[in-house]
Amino acid sequence: MSSTQMAQLMDGTGLAGRIAAETATRAAEISQRTGVTPCLATVLVGEDPASVTYVRMKRNRCAKAGIHSRHIALPAVTTTAELVGTLSDLSKDPEVHGILLQHPVGPHIDERTAFEAIAPEKDVDGVTMHSFAAMSFGLPGFQSCTPGGILRLLDDYDVELAGKYAVVVGRSAILGKPVGMLLLARDTTVTYCHSRTANLPAIVRDADVVVAAVGRPRLISGEDIKPGAVVIDAGYNPGNVGDVDFDTARTRARLITPVPGGVGPMTIAVLLSQTVDAAAHQLGVPGR
Ligand code: NAP
Repeated sequence: MSSTQMAQLMDGTGLAGRIAAETATRAAEISQRTGVTPCLATVLVGEDPASVTYVRMKRNRCAKAGIHSRHIALPAVTTTAELVGTLSDLSKDPEVHGILLQHPVGPHIDERTAFEAIAPEKDVDGVTMHSFAAMSFGLPGFQSCTPGGILRLLDDYDVELAGKYAVVVGRSAILGKPVGMLLLARDTTVTYCHSRTANLPAIVRDADVVVAAVGRPRLISGEDIKPGAVVIDAGYNPGNVGDVDFDTARTRARLITPVPGGVGPMTIAVLLSQTVDAAAHQLGVPGR
């Protein structure tokens, strides 16, 4: 690709809309067949404004897709044991098919212990060790939503992954690590980079697929994108800025996700889709 050509934008908003429509159809079918509406429980600890907004968005999307949502707002002073109690109760509640614990939950709570109180069959956000292990072993289970969304976006643009070299920048449990595992399962050769990686630019320069999952504005220079590479920018920084220097990167990449409108919308789409999968499974309705 010559330097004057611009990369094609990967339209996460459009794909998320199609997944949401398909999810709504499946939710309606389940309701008709069983008389039960799929239900996602959202659990929020405290009143962090960003978390309040995220949960509200998720519940609004549920409503649009014909998924019932039950919201549990807990005070900021909630202890780990109390949160575990709430999540265990929801895990046993037959009216709840999926559980979302909005994170971060606050420094006084042991987040891992809380996540592990979510029953694997209701872990539609893909945050438990069970889900991560199942995903890594290639067994049935729920994917972490953002990584799952990234793979769907790559597939929607027919990106060849087998035999390609992917560099994942970031190794968080909800994003970097699982997206690397999903790429590995597709026969991509994967390198993880993180805050202690020496000479990040040199590693990125070799990548056929770059996944940026850091949370540092324009950490990855467009000059380091290999011509013709596919660039997935999951980073979201103040001012609608990603982790990749978009303006330069798009003159070298073949495909690139915009920020916003790329990876972002995919997360909720996968959450809702997996909630309907969970409901179908629990209600004995044949899956997709
Ligand atoms: P996180 O838990 O803070 O992890 C950030 C990762 O980036 C860590 O692995 C860290 O390395 C690495 N890192 C930090 N500085 C680095 C540097 N200078 N060079 C290379 N790596 C560096 O963040 P996260 O939850 O994964 O989120 C990452 C970004 O994705 C954020 O912008 C977030 O807003 C966004 N995000 C978007 C969605 C969505 O689109 N729906 C969902 C989730 C997250 P260490 O492990 O060594 O500390």
